[in-house]
Amino acid sequence: MPELPEVETIKNYLRKNIIGKEIVGFQNLNKKQIKIKEKDIVGEKILDLQRRGKILILKLSNNKDVFVHLKMTGQLIYAKNKEILKSTRAVFELCELARMIDDTQMNANFIRDDWRNKNIRNHLHYLIFNDARKFGWIKLKAEEIKNLGIEPFSKEFNLKNLEKIFQKSKRPIKIVLMDQTEIAGIGNIYASESLFLAKINPQKPANKLTKEEIKRLRNSILKILKKALQYEGTSSRFYIKPDQTKGRYQEKFLVYQREGKKCFRCKSKIKRIVLGGRSTFYCQICQK
Ligand SMILES: [Zn+2]
Repeated sequence: MPELPEVETIKNYLRKNIIGKEIVGFQNLNKKQIKIKEKDIVGEKILDLQRRGKILILKLSNNKDVFVHLKMTGQLIYAKNKEILKSTRAVFELCELARMIDDTQMNANFIRDDWRNKNIRNHLHYLIFNDARKFGWIKLKAEEIKNLGIEPFSKEFNLKNLEKIFQKSKRPIKIVLMDQTEIAGIGNIYASESLFLAKINPQKPANKLTKEEIKRLRNSILKILKKALQYEGTSSRFYIKPDQTKGRYQEKFLVYQREGKKCFRCKSKIKRIVLGGRSTFYCQICQK
């Protein structure tokens, strides 16, 4: 599942390309997942694009927000050509010239009615939502946002708040790190990676972490997320950037998907266990 670095990478790419554009068309190809209608968004301009946890938020000129969650296999593709795949669930048609064309048309009454449409067609871009497993969603109201925990790159991600979060839970630390209602944006990959860097066993009960360990874990999380952002996320399965190229953090994995391979620190074999139903990778020697 795309985590903070992947969603942030998508956001950064799309911000450069879709802000200021007008939504001139919309195709909903799966009404179970896509809870928006043409009339909610067509004719509106995209004013901003934000991220909260693993959720993307498009801010529209009608004051509506469009929330996008990629879940397991979602992809957002930004392209000049409309390529509809078997897994395509929604298509936004975007045009930067729509408004300009309207202004021109107002000043030139002699122009034929279809002039605007023709010009829009020549300047279209498409934002395409693909999702093979159909767990992702797009909607106008997302209750999920209200329940999200602290953002790792915010000032709330401090030792005091982390101590508070960990002290109240006997659950394994890795499970707590992945709990979106406590800390937003960390999933299976970066929880494993951060715990390795911090030399903490993923099974250790959260409330048993020492102050020193919490400090190390906080620094490790920030370091790993920054590095993953620098490499534009992990493309080990479905995640790709909107220009359809891959992220490269998978080339930098410390423990994730390295079962049986040598630990970079102590050379013993990386172990895989299942924790809360998810594969968890760690070094038994380094992570006590
Ligand atoms: Zn080791």
